[in-house]
Amino acid sequence: MTRVRWGGSLLEEAAVHADRVLLSVAPHAVEAAATGGPAEVATFTPQLDEADLAVRVVGRVPAPSGGVSLPDARVVVSGGRGAGSADGFAPVLELAALLGAAVGCSRAVTIAGWRPHTEQVGQTGTKIAPELYIAAGISGATQHLAGTRGAKRILAVNKDAEAPIMAAADYAVVGDMAEVLPAISAEIRRRRGA
Ligand SMILES: Cc1cc2nc3c(=O)[nH]c(=O)nc-3n(C[C@H](O)[C@H](O)[C@H](O)COP(=O)(O)OP(=O)(O)OC[C@H]3O[C@@H](n4cnc5c(N)ncnc54)[C@H](O)[C@@H]3O)c2cc1C
Repeated sequence: MTRVRWGGSLLEEAAVHADRVLLSVAPHAVEAAATGGPAEVATFTPQLDEADLAVRVVGRVPAPSGGVSLPDARVVVSGGRGAGSADGFAPVLELAALLGAAVGCSRAVTIAGWRPHTEQVGQTGTKIAPELYIAAGISGATQHLAGTRGAKRILAVNKDAEAPIMAAADYAVVGDMAEVLPAISAEIRRRRGA
């Protein structure tokens, strides 16, 4: 089997020797297809005693959400340090709302406190697999791109034509995100006749 390691920067060819195998697959990573035979589904109920419970779930806090879940979103619009401030995210939020997209961001943004960690895309954030990923003001560090490998198409908006995200993108716009994103939103509105 091929195992994804180090945030997607290494693909390991591994042989499985264990009797029981646990496989996980990223959302949208593979198309579901009929294999011909019925699969046996068995319910496994582990027998645990107190000594096994070194870690416990003591509560759950739902993440604040704008409605569209980042891992499942068909379109994700993200902003990076290029947004300049929390207020600089307004064009990102506007475009995301128009497209029915989830909002994402880079770690520089969560560290600055402009957006919550639940919106961080990348190795230590959420891994996404949308039809379209719009990354504005994001340089495209390896750790960020590790979360975007499942994206079918990437549109990058960056002032720097040499930023790594531009090489990873299918479409690139060299420009100021504070001008380019509102222009895209205005064009969408115009075409919708709104
Ligand atoms: C262990 C580890 C784990 C990490 N995990 C993650 C992770 O999960 N996700 C993640 O994102 N990062 C992660 N990082 C951090 C990562 O290395 C980068 O520091 C981070 O992604 C940079 O964020 P950024 O692209 O927003 O900022 P920068 O790298 O500062 O890039 C800002 C970009 O904005 C452009 N820009 C500036 N102004 C404008 C403008 N007005 N209009 C358009 N473009 C503009 C600049 O040209 C630049 O390319 C991790 C790092 C480590 C060490």
